[in-house]
Amino acid sequence: MISVEEARRRVLERIVALDAERVGAIDSLGRVLAADIVSDIDVAPFDNSAMDGYAVRVADVAGASEDTPVRLRVVEHVAAGAFPEVPIGAGEATRIMTGAPVPEGAEAVIMVEHTAEEGDGAVAVIMTSARDGENIRRKAEDVRSGETVLTAGEIVGSAAVGLMAAVGCAEPLVHRRPRVAIVATGDELVAIDEYPGPGKIRNSNSYTLAAQVIDAGGEPFILEVARDTVVHTRAILSQAPDYDLMVSTGGVSMGDYDVVRDVLEEIGDMDFWKVAMRPGAPQTHGTIGGTPFFGLPGNPTSTMVGFELFVRPVVLKMQGHTALDRPHHPVVLGHDVKKKADRRYFLRAVTERMPDGTYVASLAGAQSSAMLTSMHRANCLLVLPEGETFFPAGSMAACIRLDRKEGSE
Ligand code: AMP
Ligand code: MG
Repeated sequence: MISVEEARRRVLERIVALDAERVGAIDSLGRVLAADIVSDIDVAPFDNSAMDGYAVRVADVAGASEDTPVRLRVVEHVAAGAFPEVPIGAGEATRIMTGAPVPEGAEAVIMVEHTAEEGDGAVAVIMTSARDGENIRRKAEDVRSGETVLTAGEIVGSAAVGLMAAVGCAEPLVHRRPRVAIVATGDELVAIDEYPGPGKIRNSNSYTLAAQVIDAGGEPFILEVARDTVVHTRAILSQAPDYDLMVSTGGVSMGDYDVVRDVLEEIGDMDFWKVAMRPGAPQTHGTIGGTPFFGLPGNPTSTMVGFELFVRPVVLKMQGHTALDRPHHPVVLGHDVKKKADRRYFLRAVTERMPDGTYVASLAGAQSSAMLTSMHRANCLLVLPEGETFFPAGSMAACIRLDRKEGSE
C-alpha cells in the first residue's frame, strides 16, 4: 500500500499537456493557451473621443464658463465609424461622438452636457474650459501593435476572449481536452432506463464519472459495460489506446470475479493497485498501450473520491493546467469523529464559515462507500490522517473544498 501523496506523485509525473488545437475564440473560454497572442494593431487604433460633445482647441475655450460662454463655428459632424476630413482652426469646433476619431488640430473634447447649440447647430456654445487631452483616448493607450496581450499557459477568461476579438485572434491555439474512456464493470449492472431485476442495480458510476470528466474539462466516452470475465473485460480495456485516458470502475477488489487487475497486468503495465485511504483502497493505476489507466473501485463514493484525488488532476494537467490542487483549509470539527488507525480517511462533510472567519465541519451523513446521497450533500472532503483514531468535537482537521476550483482561494 502506498500513501495518497506517493500515488498522486507517481500518477502525475508522467503526464504532460496534450498537443494543441485551434478553436473559436469563444470556445477557448476556460482552456489553457498553448501559444502567446500578439496584437496586429494598436488598440485604440487612433486618437478618439471618450465623450459625445465638441472637439476643440484648448486656447479657444480658456476661461469659458456658464457666465462667460465661448462661441465656436462648427466645421464638421463626426459619428463613430466615420473619419474627420476637416482640420479645426482657431475659433472652430467639430461635433463628435464617443469613439469617433478626433480631427486634426483638436486638443480636447468638451462634453455635450457643458454646451449648447445656436444657429441650427452651426455654432457651439461652450460653457467650460478644457485641459490638453481631456476626453481624448490616445492611439495605442491599451495595446501596442506587436505587443503580447495573452501568454501561453494562461487560462482563458471572459476578458481574454474580448481581447482576442480586439486584436483579431479568431482561433487561438489551446491545449486539447483529453478524451476519456469510461468503463463500468459488473454483471449486476443495468442501464439508467431499465428497472433492475433480482440482484441487479443501475449503473450510476458511468454517469458520475462522465460528469466529473466534463467538470474537469475532459470529453467523456462511455464504453460498453464490461462483463465480469477476463475475455470480455480484456476486449473492452484493449480499447484504451484509442483514448487519452481510460477509467474503469469495479472489479479491482479481492472478489472471485474481480478481473480488472489481472487484465491490466496481462495487456498493460500496472504501477500500483492499493492506496492507504478510505473510502476505496484498491485504486489501481497503470498504462495500457501507453494510455494512462485508472481502475477505480466500484462503490459509488469510492469511485468519485478516487477520481477526485487521482484522475481529476491528470485531466487538468493534460489540458495544460498547472494548479492541480483544489483549495483546502483547516476546519473545526462540529462533533466527535472516530476512525481506524490504518488509513487516511476522506469523509463527506459540510463546512460552513462562522462569523469569526473560522470554518466548522460536520459529516454530511452516513459514510458507507455505497451511499451517494451524502456525497451529494457534501461540499468538502474532511481529511483525517493515518495513525490516529479519535478526533473529538472542537479539534482541527483539514478539508478539501469540492465546491471550489483549483487555483482559487
Ligand atoms: P466491485 O468492486 O466490482 O465488487 O464493486 C463494489 C460495489 O460497487 C458493488 O456493490 C457493486 O455492485 C458496486 N458497483 C460496481 N460498479 C457500479 C456501477 N457502475 N454503478 C453503481 N454501483 C456499482
Ligand atoms: Mg464487480
